[in-house]
Amino acid sequence: MSRFWSPRIKDLTPYVPGEQPKLRDLVKLNTNEHPLGPSPRVLEAIRAEAGDSLRLYPDPNGDALKSKLADYHGVSPKQVFLGNGSDEVLAHIFFGLFQHGKPILFPDITYSFYPVYCGIYNIEARAIPVAGDFSIRPEDYRGDCGGIIFPNPNAPSGKALALSEVERIVGSNPDVVVVIDEAYVDFGAETAIGLVDRYPNLLVTQTLSKSRSLAGLRVGFAVGHADLIEALERVKNSFNSYPLDRLALVGAVAAYEDEAYFRQATEYVVRERQRVTDGLEQLGFEVVPSAANFVLARHPDHAGADIAAALRERSIIVRHFNKPRIENHLRITIGSETQNDALLGALPDIV
Ligand code: PMP
Repeated sequence: MSRFWSPRIKDLTPYVPGEQPKLRDLVKLNTNEHPLGPSPRVLEAIRAEAGDSLRLYPDPNGDALKSKLADYHGVSPKQVFLGNGSDEVLAHIFFGLFQHGKPILFPDITYSFYPVYCGIYNIEARAIPVAGDFSIRPEDYRGDCGGIIFPNPNAPSGKALALSEVERIVGSNPDVVVVIDEAYVDFGAETAIGLVDRYPNLLVTQTLSKSRSLAGLRVGFAVGHADLIEALERVKNSFNSYPLDRLALVGAVAAYEDEAYFRQATEYVVRERQRVTDGLEQLGFEVVPSAANFVLARHPDHAGADIAAALRERSIIVRHFNKPRIENHLRITIGSETQNDALLGALPDIV
């Protein structure tokens, strides 16, 4: 800290990202990346773009990608907003679409970035406890507030909320923007994008980091009523008009041109999720039923931190959150068959 820091900076509690270890031969099951690579078409598109055109600025509107996403999701390009990962999209939403001066509602537990955004924009955060089985209860999300946000499936529980329940939350809060963060939706939940034309207060965010296996490219987007999207464009253009670089734009378009690969890669993760769940349960773990590419699990006889440390000694990295409600849980990303075998093979020595 120095005398140049403003009081706002002194009070910030920044997000602590999952570790990105420099060693390569680790079994890395800590940040929910896809175990398979992206579609070969993505790599071809990026290689083709990686030449002289890099002299030139990218399309500031990302029109080709907006049209591709709009077609894919059955909306108009005016209903699509692009960002550098969905984290950037969320940052602009917290700044531009949530009403400051009233609390923002989100579940406890949930994605730990939400309170960080509230901190940076000086908005009150109101964390609403999930039920004992980690479900979100729609009836808890009402009353005077500045906006509502939750992931579906939720993180780090992996628990999905039925679309009818999502709709209940959106419909019973018509005066505020309700954001459904669908980072993990493709692994087993129902998207709310089909509802955006019915609810002008609904905004759905998605990312290419998880099911499209492109975390390194940093592409996320929001879909909603054109008025909400226009607000986000105004915020974005007040910071920086180029959220996506040329390689990200062409790579992302190509990802949506290979549906067969996407299906197959998603099914692979879903299959492995079942195998990991079964394997953990056989070892005595309690596993929260997951609709995502990770599972939240605890062992009744061992502290989460101890299991995580013992796995690390064996070069396997999982996520342990030092937070109430889940301090004894581990969040384990579903890896490749080999990685999951390594995990399930190491655990009998530990538990
Ligand atoms: N939402 C949730 C619930 C997440 O877990 C993540 C990934 N950490 C994100 C959004 C952001 O992902 P990205 O910025 O890579 O799109």
